[in-house]
Amino acid sequence: SAHQLKQALAAPLGVATGCLTLGNGSNELLLLLAETFLAPQASAVCSQYGFAIYPLVIRATGARCIEVPACAADSAMPYGHDLAAMARAISSDTRLVFIANPNNPTGTWAADAELRACIAALPQHTLVVLDEAYLEFAALSGCGSGLAWLGELPNLVVLRTFSKGYGLAGARVGYAVSHPEVADALNRIRPAFN
Ligand SMILES: *Cc1c(COP(=O)(O)O)cnc(C)c1O
Repeated sequence: SAHQLKQALAAPLGVATGCLTLGNGSNELLLLLAETFLAPQASAVCSQYGFAIYPLVIRATGARCIEVPACAADSAMPYGHDLAAMARAISSDTRLVFIANPNNPTGTWAADAELRACIAALPQHTLVVLDEAYLEFAALSGCGSGLAWLGELPNLVVLRTFSKGYGLAGARVGYAVSHPEVADALNRIRPAFN
């Protein structure tokens, strides 16, 4: 259960340990989220030029992958996520929306206020997976974290990893911060020795 690591993370993140799920890298958390919330009769939304793993974990469950065209090459965030179009693509069977902020491989990100408003306006049956794997590199460019919104937005799941900013990809440690009910569901199907 990685009790000590959860204790160490909870204080600086300002969350209870019950909000945390530890993964074999955040990659495993993407898999666990898909396995927990998707099924052949469900769908999930991601962006064109988003992180390459999202369509794989979505399709592995048999769910429909709705890949939304990215922002234009001449926009302020070339090939970045078109948040408004992603929100419009959500249907009644959409359980997950994957947003990489900042995105890998395009290096684009969404402004705090725009991202928060977008998530707040989503239907309650849709969880937003906000993947902050590269956050540490983008903070100076003005890319913020969604962690502070967790209290008001119970359908938000924030993913972090020690792989990129800390250069510890070989250690395979990532974590999800979410509402405790979401963490409970993820931890139930998490492999015992991940
Ligand atoms: C690298 C990366 C991951 C997965 O990294 P882990 O080593 O499994 O933690 C997840 N999301 C994004 C956007 C990445 O760039």
